[in-house]
Amino acid sequence: MIFNFLNEVMFSIIRQEARWNEMKKLLLITTGGTIASSPSDEGLIPALNSQELLSILGLREEHIQLDCEDLLNLDSSNMQPEEWKLIARRIYEVYADYDGIILTHGTDTMAYTASALSFMLHNLPIPVILTGSQLPLLHPLSDGVDNIRLAFAAAQCALHGVYICFNRKLMLGTRAVKVRTMNFDAFESVNAQPIGIVDARGLHIYEKDAISLKGKCELYDDLCEDVYLMKLTPGMNPEILDVLANMNYRGIVIEAFGSGGIHFIRRDLISKLEEIVAKGISVVVCSQCLYENSDFSIYQTGQKVLRHGVIQGYDMTSEACLTKLMWALGQTADPQTVKEIFATNYVNEITLK
Ligand code: ASP
Repeated sequence: MIFNFLNEVMFSIIRQEARWNEMKKLLLITTGGTIASSPSDEGLIPALNSQELLSILGLREEHIQLDCEDLLNLDSSNMQPEEWKLIARRIYEVYADYDGIILTHGTDTMAYTASALSFMLHNLPIPVILTGSQLPLLHPLSDGVDNIRLAFAAAQCALHGVYICFNRKLMLGTRAVKVRTMNFDAFESVNAQPIGIVDARGLHIYEKDAISLKGKCELYDDLCEDVYLMKLTPGMNPEILDVLANMNYRGIVIEAFGSGGIHFIRRDLISKLEEIVAKGISVVVCSQCLYENSDFSIYQTGQKVLRHGVIQGYDMTSEACLTKLMWALGQTADPQTVKEIFATNYVNEITLK
């Protein structure tokens, strides 16, 4: 199936020309979200299945063989590690049969799902493109039409791994963050240029920034759910970390101040972190600033933290830090190995020094 004008949209996909006329086999997996929602007495709820979505989009068959699968029908606020595993396993089961997969998903937690899938599915040889919309597809002015069209175009490109496309941008799954609640430009690619943009010349893919294959496709679907993401606030009581330790949390991500600051006068969070790390809990620090790098070696407050074995998240998004730590602790119980995992760039999620 293909959109009426998809051939025109596709004509300027850089360096993909030879592939345009090849028959492509794509899979559309739906999981709910606003894109599939309709009004109810209790507000918008996911309701439409893939066939209903496709009928609104008005597709016709040409150059694309499309299979559809309605995997979930959830508001993405209800997407949790169990759902990430279900999606990852399904993609792993079927990826070899397709040239690309489009996954429709609610926007609210799409960045978490995309990051989690990026770590669970190594060396995916095809593109998996997540998309959704701010306004339901049933609405005549929905942004979902453009978003799905781009997702279909991107899913036919020679890309590998997990991406989010939204508002004419194609972004790495581990770099996209939802930054706007209402505007159609809901996602930004944080600390990495978008991999693709659409303009008057069509879709441009910047292949050098895309995910590269490093080996055989593997599924690593163990995740540790006992990971907490905490935003540091001035005056925060360090004993909050004891509460997490007593609840058996195994990992903590702290969004610290600026390029890398944590308080230690009066309320000595740094000594508390030393205690927590000594208990075998892995602590990752990143910045509560959305953009640019965190570097805990710049200030005394940051250096003290690093001396206690805390791991740097550098320029990773909070979503990527959280899901990488869940994934790392799913693979190993050894804090040293968790550190090594964080010192590894898997899918361009981190800029290491
Ligand atoms: N609450 C919706 C969801 O995340 C929002 C959306 O899809 O835009 O499922």
